[in-house]
Amino acid sequence: MKVLVLNSGSSSIKYRLFDMAGLAVVASGVIEQIGEKESHLKHTSMPAGGQSEIIEKSGSIADHRQGFGMMEEILRQTGAIKHTSELAAIGHRVVHGGEEFHEPAVITEKVLKRIRSLVPLAPLHNPANLTGIEVAMEFAPKVVQVAVFDTAFHQSMPEYAFLYALPRKMYEEYGVRRYGFHGTSHHYVAKEASVCLGRPFNELNLITLHLGNGDSIAAIRKGECVDTSMGMTPLEGLIMGTRSGDLDPAIIFYLARQTGMGLDDLDNLLNKESGLKGLCGVNDMREIAGRAEKGDKQAGLAIRMFCYRLKKYLGSYMAVLGHVDGIIFTGGIGENAPLVRELCCQGLEGLGVVIDPRKNKERKEGCLEIQADASRIKVMVIATNEELEIARQTVKLLDAS
Ligand code: ADP
Repeated sequence: MKVLVLNSGSSSIKYRLFDMAGLAVVASGVIEQIGEKESHLKHTSMPAGGQSEIIEKSGSIADHRQGFGMMEEILRQTGAIKHTSELAAIGHRVVHGGEEFHEPAVITEKVLKRIRSLVPLAPLHNPANLTGIEVAMEFAPKVVQVAVFDTAFHQSMPEYAFLYALPRKMYEEYGVRRYGFHGTSHHYVAKEASVCLGRPFNELNLITLHLGNGDSIAAIRKGECVDTSMGMTPLEGLIMGTRSGDLDPAIIFYLARQTGMGLDDLDNLLNKESGLKGLCGVNDMREIAGRAEKGDKQAGLAIRMFCYRLKKYLGSYMAVLGHVDGIIFTGGIGENAPLVRELCCQGLEGLGVVIDPRKNKERKEGCLEIQADASRIKVMVIATNEELEIARQTVKLLDAS
């Protein structure tokens, strides 16, 4: 049974084809700069038992339709599929599912309409996700299409955690509340942790830290998310690559008045020019860590601030949960930056978290436990795999329907 997973951005399509029998990736690829003069496609074929092969193409790819067509052709030419009709399903990542979607959904006209109605909440992401779905439906009209929402896992948050202290009308009439994002990743690594710990998911209290270009943390009680750091949009919470995370909202009024910046400028400032980039000029943690090592003060301060914010959230989620079984690091930074893991757990011995510096530097497929023997709480590094989680949830829905 083959399942194609699609993640469509405004100018990109990322795809991964799974053979669900052995959960094997048959092919994957990314098409970028769609709609620009020079677009790029990079495809990797991974035939069972064969050599993997990389195909790269550059040129103009006018739109998602053309991009999808190229992907389909390459999948056929390399023997990954004979025709799209052979797919058991296509699973789509959809960023915003609002309050409507607690679970993945088989895409119907009604579901499309509901995703469209959520565009005001995710004006950059949902339209691109919708374009991807529409194109896929055009190319593979008989194949079941499933939407898996980034917000769905967080829908179990209680009202006292998801509401902002604003007049209730703002929530009821405009949907202003915390939704949270990265849900598929938090859910995936939390379930993987339960497998590693050999304990049922619905008995575990976990804190998951997804640290990549965007960063978020989630508190999971007995398998259900009870709080997360991103809010109505992904801007809230931790310091990120280019996003500020939490700040005093009055700064926005102050800057508007003092500098004359408009709403779009401020939006751009907080989402694209702040965070690590705002603090030290670059948003890539590898580069920042390298600079800090060479004595760059701004880079050192940026790492310190990043980890301090993380630690504050970690401590508050420990308080939220009361009892914590495990803390899980994932995402490009969470998986690869021992320094960040060390700094944000530093001084938490009294709360039951002690990292073993030697284990923290190790690398391992699957689940790497990095806590010291004296640690009451397990600390783990688990690579995220959102595409696999989307494929699994897609198949689960197929089986159930
Ligand atoms: P995205 O959120 O776009 O999926 P990733 O999860 O790939 O991003 O994370 C990207 C971040 O991970 C970048 O800041 C990158 O520098 C960081 N990263 C990747 N590898 C390392 C490493 N070895 N050490 C430190 N940071 C790393």
